[in-house]
Amino acid sequence: MIWDMFNYQLKNRIYLQESTTTHNYHILDNLDDAKLGIIKFNGANNFTIAVDPIVRKRYIATEAMIQLLNIKFASMTKLFCQFPSSNQQAINLFKLFAPATKHKDITKFIFHKHTYNNISWRDFYLTRIKQFNRCFIREPSQEPQQQLYCESCQLTAAETDIFNRNTLLHPVAKRAWQQMQAAALNDKIILQIISAYRSLDYQKQLISHKLAKGLLIEEILRVNTLPGFSEHHTGCAIDIGSPKHPVLESEFDQSPAFSWLNKNAKKFNFYLSYPKHNNTGITYEPWHWCYQL
Ligand SMILES: [Zn+2]
Repeated sequence: MIWDMFNYQLKNRIYLQESTTTHNYHILDNLDDAKLGIIKFNGANNFTIAVDPIVRKRYIATEAMIQLLNIKFASMTKLFCQFPSSNQQAINLFKLFAPATKHKDITKFIFHKHTYNNISWRDFYLTRIKQFNRCFIREPSQEPQQQLYCESCQLTAAETDIFNRNTLLHPVAKRAWQQMQAAALNDKIILQIISAYRSLDYQKQLISHKLAKGLLIEEILRVNTLPGFSEHHTGCAIDIGSPKHPVLESEFDQSPAFSWLNKNAKKFNFYLSYPKHNNTGITYEPWHWCYQL
């Protein structure tokens, strides 16, 4: 069930478009149709994925692409990824995607039918999330039945946040955010970033720090999701603040900034993800807004 939700999410972030002249596929970002890469068939049973360097740095994006391929070909043929069984090998494999290169499509990743075990990249993402979460929850029954989110496939630097840290956003969300900020300023409302994109690792650190301070995991999970379940992974969610108003407190909803957002954010495709009495298991968060098409 959880994977149905995940697949749904993925389908909403990336799509494949078959080339009209060849059997290759373009990999496109659903939010802005940006070309993230191409899938070239080298025969019936193997193909090469070449991704743009900016995307390649985000290995999760590639993982997502492969997941999408799994969905795409699930009914046609069992295409298992050429995927090593140990984590260390997997990490080494991911590093292939990291080094910067002048050539757009130097990253060649070939998948063979029947080559490997039954670990798919989709399972890997779930395994990875489980590993992240093993330090926080022990029983499988404690696993949250929340929406899983894929890390963003495109990220770009945005302004520094109120703590002067660098932030990253999906380019489309960033553009909309800047337009919204400018419109707010026109109405003498200052909107600031408290938190934007967060990686799985960061989410883990966030929880670890709170645990180290002596908070109980149950208390933490009322306000933070486990890694993998945060909308901040998408690069489209922003925790918004305004000077002289409480940071990440429900009283933020008494601020003029919140009234302004309530009235105007939808014009910029920003929506409150966790309103009062929502059914996601996350408490009311008047500061958390997410760009959605
Ligand atoms: Zn948030």
